[in-house]
Amino acid sequence: MQIFETLAKYDYEQVVLCQDHTSGLKAIIAIHDTTLGPALGGCRMWTYVSEEAAITDALRLSRGMTYKAAAAGLNLGGGKTVVIGNPKTDKSEALFRALGRYIEGLHGRYITAEDVGTTVSDMDLIHQETRYVTGVSQAYGSSGDPSPVTALGVFRGLQASVREVYGTDDLAGKTVAVQGLGHVGYDLCRQLHEVGAKLIVTDISEAVVKRAVEEFGAAAVAPQDIVAAECDVFAPCALGAVISDDTIPLLRCRIVAGSANNQLAEERHGDTLHEMGILYAPDYVINAGGLINVADELEGYNADRAQKKVEGIYDIMRKIFAMSREFRIPTYQAADRMAEARIAAIKQVRSTFLPVSRSLLHRQ
Ligand code: NAD
Repeated sequence: MQIFETLAKYDYEQVVLCQDHTSGLKAIIAIHDTTLGPALGGCRMWTYVSEEAAITDALRLSRGMTYKAAAAGLNLGGGKTVVIGNPKTDKSEALFRALGRYIEGLHGRYITAEDVGTTVSDMDLIHQETRYVTGVSQAYGSSGDPSPVTALGVFRGLQASVREVYGTDDLAGKTVAVQGLGHVGYDLCRQLHEVGAKLIVTDISEAVVKRAVEEFGAAAVAPQDIVAAECDVFAPCALGAVISDDTIPLLRCRIVAGSANNQLAEERHGDTLHEMGILYAPDYVINAGGLINVADELEGYNADRAQKKVEGIYDIMRKIFAMSREFRIPTYQAADRMAEARIAAIKQVRSTFLPVSRSLLHRQ
């Protein structure tokens, strides 16, 4: 890997390699962009096949966080930590505290959080060494499980999508096919049921499907059949790469809007949806509720304030759809453009309006 060439390609600011022999810590902290504020992004622990794969993942994920925070209107930049190791066997107090020391050493340029392979207790260990950590346990001022808040954001994004296509955000009588009834998907179903939407559901767990059928009067289909279900909205809430060459020809919906990360197998699949007249709610915008919620911890968590901000996903989504219409571009591109424009505008403000004390210093 040509590291500086790689960093220059998407203008990454910093990569920190963290090594602690005693605890076995091998981690990468990638900071993509701090124009809007400190880089916030989760700490992933995974058994990577190579160090290069770990660095690549940290870089890719940190850049994604820059866009997610910018589009959500947060004053945060994008960062991510990747710990190389098996989350089942390689965790220890010393390892997370060593990582905490590294994060503390960045003096707030990077703030960490839970991610795949890490838990609230791991965040509590990091918290022993630094305050630049969110997603800690309730005793330290946590915002709690982000999933219901994520589900609320998805619900609001779904309303905005329905309004774009049908001219009203009333979901009563609309059919929504939900793939995955986990923490987010199940709560989304509850909210949709409450406003009178019809549900088609699936999950690989039969028990949870049975529950949704009984509680929400949902129609159940086999996991392999959900993509082809005839519906108004297809809501992927399980896996990534659900929109691909294989699935696009099967779709019988007007809208794709769900919580799953990385729904488009490749960006070009977003172009295809656009050409087919299927409205796509960009995943990193519609599922930003969890991030907005956790970011609120930085100001002393207030559930009402966080919820209001999450409700704002409705307006953000409307703006993206309007841009997509105006510039005749796919919605995923409109979302990226909106995020980039916000970063560029704030960069400009910061370079123009230099505080007096600093400008005096520069003259000396
Ligand atoms: P989860 O693990 O609680 O739920 C996922 C569900 O999908 C499980 O019930 C699982 O059985 C089911 N599933 C797995 N494979 C399936 C398949 N092939 N067909 C049908 N169902 C299948 O996860 P979650 O927290 O609900 O998150 C769902 C998605 O949303 C993930 O992609 C996640 O990355 C994304 N997301 C979640 C949050 C959050 O706050 N939890 C925030 C942003 C994004």
